[in-house]
Amino acid sequence: MSTEGLRPSRVVVLGAGLAGLAAADRLAESGVEVRVLEREDHPGGLATTIREGAFHFDLGPHRYYTSRPELLRFVRNLLPGSLLEKERLSRIRLLGRYFRYPPALGDILRRMPPHRSAAMILSYLGERIRSVVTPPGEADFESWVVRRFGRRLYEIYFGPYTKKLWGLPPAELSADWAGQRITVPGLAGIIRATLFPGRSKSRTLVGTFHYPRGGIGRIAGALAERIENRGGRIQYRSELRRITRRVEKGGFLFSANGGQLEADAVVNSLPVTDYVQLLGDLVPEPVHRAASGLRFRALVLTALRLSKRLEARDHWIYVPEASFRFNRLSIPGNFDPDASEHGSQVVFETTCREGDEVWAGRRDLAEEAVEGGVRLGLFERGHVLESLTARAAHAYPIYGCGYAARTATVLDALDALEDSVTCGRQGLFRYNNMDHSLEMGRCAAEELLGMGRVRDRFAWTSDTWADG
Ligand SMILES: Cc1cc2nc3c(=O)[nH]c(=O)nc-3n(C[C@H](O)[C@H](O)[C@H](O)COP(=O)(O)OP(=O)(O)OC[C@H]3O[C@@H](n4cnc5c(N)ncnc54)[C@H](O)[C@@H]3O)c2cc1C
Repeated sequence: MSTEGLRPSRVVVLGAGLAGLAAADRLAESGVEVRVLEREDHPGGLATTIREGAFHFDLGPHRYYTSRPELLRFVRNLLPGSLLEKERLSRIRLLGRYFRYPPALGDILRRMPPHRSAAMILSYLGERIRSVVTPPGEADFESWVVRRFGRRLYEIYFGPYTKKLWGLPPAELSADWAGQRITVPGLAGIIRATLFPGRSKSRTLVGTFHYPRGGIGRIAGALAERIENRGGRIQYRSELRRITRRVEKGGFLFSANGGQLEADAVVNSLPVTDYVQLLGDLVPEPVHRAASGLRFRALVLTALRLSKRLEARDHWIYVPEASFRFNRLSIPGNFDPDASEHGSQVVFETTCREGDEVWAGRRDLAEEAVEGGVRLGLFERGHVLESLTARAAHAYPIYGCGYAARTATVLDALDALEDSVTCGRQGLFRYNNMDHSLEMGRCAAEELLGMGRVRDRFAWTSDTWADG
């Protein structure tokens, strides 16, 4: 929260992901001296592209989609002539078959064994009748989904996928996650959308998206360049250690591994849990307790380089079945024709807990990916040239039951901290997209400039979200 009417002359921005960069860009644009501290040796955070020789792939499949024309213009202006427009193609692998995603009734009926389709529809109808007799609670993910899709579809798809993605029983996840991320209409909605395509009232199911030639990391790269052109500085390999108050003048002192730095104000885009720890006794004990109950899901990516071009045209494929350890795979060459100079790549995503056996590399994920890819019919073992691994410790904020109250405790306390604004996916503990992080960063800068509050601008309704 900024001090009313006082414009800071020097601001430190924590994190050079899209939120931090957008904040720094906006501050530098209005003449504020800005310094960004970033732990890694490159900008981009989660929206990073990993390059190795003639190959590149993103830290998980990233498509740029926004419902706000000004945010599309923002990225277009950063990368003139570089944005490809793509027709989304994604599928789900279920029961040994591929189904279109978002689901379409005709496709389900054509591919699903008839007894399964009948069971699905009966279970859905049973659920509707039950919910008239005893209206169910909807606080957790499982009841939210069962109510809209029936128990059978939950058991085949939503339940196993969710368990794999989050490592938690779905009944322990808040229904907020479902409400924000499942934009597929319930079973009745899928039937309605199939029979009366023009009349569907469902939220945005993203049909087309944009993607920068050269990888998603180019957005961050271009922003970083513009910040430096505007006089800002980005200090890479700077890991924050501690934040204290500057005596008398207000503002903060930042201790990072590269030394000390001071500023009148701070924009945070680091995980809010880490930010609270860095602030130490600048925030009260109950806030530390609430923050320590917030958790992130980590992600390990395994990229396989192949000697042949793949036939599959999908951008990504969801793989809920428990017999595959990974939960999704993506094909970078279908986003960007230049992603692999020769052959192709497939990137497998395995979510985990930071420090567990997957994270620590005690499981042979490359072998699991090869074996899985072969079983899915994507390639043969002999096509695999090499594998590469990448990790993200804070890939997903976990919306466990009780997360909303904890997040509110933490964010309310941070709101009360003068000269500090927190933003971004990590800084607000929000499962949001790139366009949201860009906008949050700009709003955070404007909050320091006395032009509104981030949390007011981001009191979102479910319509704000796009599907995953
Ligand atoms: C697998 C996956 C797929 C996704 N797909 C899409 C998609 O298709 N479309 C879409 O719009 N969005 C997608 N997203 C979401 C998108 O990546 C994020 O919303 C966005 O990139 C978050 O930006 P941010 O700046 O808020 O956070 P981050 O990108 O997490 O930035 C935080 C920065 O802080 C730095 N940092 C952390 N700790 C420290 C420290 N102690 N000291 C210094 N620096 C530190 C980090 O290195 C990082 O650079 C996806 C996310 C994932 C994980």
